[in-house]
Amino acid sequence: WNLLSILLAVTVRSSLAFTFSGGYSPILQSIGAHRASLCHGGSAFQLDSALAARRASTHARPLDFGRKQSLRMLMDVPKQVLVTGASGKTGFFTFKKLRELEKEFFTKGLVHSEKGAKKLQSIGASLGDSSAIKQSNKKLRDMGMVAEDEDPDIYIGDIVTKEGLDEAIQGCDALVILTSGVPKLRKREIFKSILAKLIGQQRLPKFYYDQMPEQVDWIGCRNQIDAAKAAGVGHIVLVSSMGVSPQKNTPENILNKLGDGNILVWKAKAEEYLKASGVPYSIVHPGGLLNKPGGERELVFGVDDELLDDYEKRGATRAIPRADVASVVVECLRHPDAVRNKSFDVVSKAPGQGTPTTDMAALFRAIPSAAPH
Ligand code: NAP
Repeated sequence: WNLLSILLAVTVRSSLAFTFSGGYSPILQSIGAHRASLCHGGSAFQLDSALAARRASTHARPLDFGRKQSLRMLMDVPKQVLVTGASGKTGFFTFKKLRELEKEFFTKGLVHSEKGAKKLQSIGASLGDSSAIKQSNKKLRDMGMVAEDEDPDIYIGDIVTKEGLDEAIQGCDALVILTSGVPKLRKREIFKSILAKLIGQQRLPKFYYDQMPEQVDWIGCRNQIDAAKAAGVGHIVLVSSMGVSPQKNTPENILNKLGDGNILVWKAKAEEYLKASGVPYSIVHPGGLLNKPGGERELVFGVDDELLDDYEKRGATRAIPRADVASVVVECLRHPDAVRNKSFDVVSKAPGQGTPTTDMAALFRAIPSAAPH
């Protein structure tokens, strides 16, 4: 059987090379990505041919996702994944975990700034060749020498203006949306709230957003879904929030009041858009996010915000570490069939209560699928 599968893989590989300019080219792009990811310490030749394959396929027609998946499995090629918000708190955990699984995933990250890019570079991701190097490579190529440009793992862009988005998503099998409007607090607000507390008054500090949730969580999210659909992406994992159900998503909800951003309203709108897009999706609604270690807690899954009322009955808290949310995302990408078109909530038990969750696939399968949109 081993010999047979090797022969089959070699045959498929050669026929793909033969039909290079046709609909199979996206798979070659992935092979290139795979090789590139495997040869951080490998030869320049391997990297060059891998990147050549990726570049050549950039303008190709997207391959039907079912066929692409079968070929991918046959050829043991990693999935290409784009994580947006990759320098954010949960985004970075997710990006890092996926990069560590380089045999399964070739991971690219979209960040909002140079500072965000530096964070990704700190774990070995690359911005690709500078334009100066690309120019000198071109001169070498014009002289008949082999000089391939290094493609980026990191894209600096903006999901609202769409800058960098289409380029980043090219060739991807899956998209993980971890962008969000970020509520911010001015120092004087903290001071005023402490002062109010000292004199026995309750005062909710005033938050503000650099970019309002309507822009980031709705328009920016919609742009990502549209770009993914156009690029033939086969799975979108959207990290949203608990509290988006119609019962909980009221104007009085404190999350909606933050900076008058109505963040849950815009997140809910983006979820509806994703469900109607026709792209297979998984929507994760975490409870309150904690900067605590992952892998130490039992995770508790639910739907429709029921956990907000009965988390105690289920022995859970209302919160979950960001690192565990990242693991949930990774497992969604590993088990797309188990989470296909599902939308679910997740919180955790306190450490020491219950057994730390390892096998999520079975838990995913128990979650009901959403009614067809
Ligand atoms: P985060 O650190 O706030 O990250 C959000 C990311 O989005 C940042 O990296 C930000 O980049 C990026 N971003 C914002 N606007 C962008 C734009 N226009 N273009 C490109 N990137 C943009 O995220 P988190 O706190 O880990 O939360 C992850 C998700 O869980 C969010 O959807 C959040 O709403 C949700 N959630 C949070 C809680 C909670 O307790 N905090 C609870 C439940 C769910 P810059 O910072 O560089 O602009």
